Amino acid sequence: MKKHANIPIFIPHVGCPNDCVFCNQRKISGHTHFDREAVRGELDEAFSTVRRDIPIQIAYFGGSFTGIDREDMRYLLSLANEYIDAGKCESIRISTRPDYINREILDILQENRVKTIEIGVQSMDERVLSASRRGHTASDTERAFSLIKSYDFELIGQMMTGLPASTEEAEVMTAERICEMGADGARIYPTVVFCDTALHDMALCGEYQPLTTEMAVERTAAVLSVFMKQGIPVIRVGLQASEILTTGEGVFGGGYHPAIGEMVYARYHRLEIERALQGEKTAGKVLVLRVFPTDISAFIGQKGENRRHLTEKFALRGVKIIPDEAMEKYKFTFSLI
Ligand code: SF4
Repeated sequence: MKKHANIPIFIPHVGCPNDCVFCNQRKISGHTHFDREAVRGELDEAFSTVRRDIPIQIAYFGGSFTGIDREDMRYLLSLANEYIDAGKCESIRISTRPDYINREILDILQENRVKTIEIGVQSMDERVLSASRRGHTASDTERAFSLIKSYDFELIGQMMTGLPASTEEAEVMTAERICEMGADGARIYPTVVFCDTALHDMALCGEYQPLTTEMAVERTAAVLSVFMKQGIPVIRVGLQASEILTTGEGVFGGGYHPAIGEMVYARYHRLEIERALQGEKTAGKVLVLRVFPTDISAFIGQKGENRRHLTEKFALRGVKIIPDEAMEKYKFTFSLI
């Protein structure tokens, strides 16, 4: 997948008749309504600050883009095409639900130079989909993926950890299915419980147990590991740090730590190192790891947590991390001295 910059335009909940238990688009995007005329202003402002050295995509995120009023959808696509024609950006990216994908919609997207489609899979476990009131089935997702794959779009699967009725096994299975169905990339979101959502009510009456930060890190790292093994790029872990997430206002609980992405990568590396050390004589030795230079902090972990954990668990004398340009990103080699 080519590196690019997104200009995200949030189209919140417009046209979505569903009521997923976790959803509060207003709080996630910071927008309360969709003003079609204001989008041009948002785009102009964003284009005045965006970096120009990599391809740019206009990204219509937030709601279910292909479920909004058809007139609005065509307007937004043609508006984005003006920027493409003016040479300001390369293509368009949209996010939507699996059950809002059909040939007619895909034809419109293709004609209008949409390059990337992100599908909110959330889970491939029927029990989880039903407990989360998603309003679609796993077969809807299979159908949508296969239809999109019959065109020439880039396809991203978005999934969540910690949904009602979910387990680590269900989440690992979901990640595996996303890979098998042919995704070009993935986003992983630990469930955040926003105030005034159905999930908030479920948590208050004990029907749902929000993820603790530790659970969110552990389960999301297990899912990240599936994508890493399959070589599917993970383009985002955790929600963007919008105002709500950084201040915590409007959040009841769940996986909303501002550094959740870094913590998940650090846990993933820790689990991989633990696997590699199985069966090795480690007691009293120094573990020397060679990693790509920008990966050092992810290997050390937040406040040196991985270093401490590995030292204790394997009775090491210490952990030394050596930056090495020759290493592949996210990979490591080790020796015990
Ligand atoms: S489909 Fe998307 S926008 Fe609609 S309720 Fe569910 S999460 Fe919210």
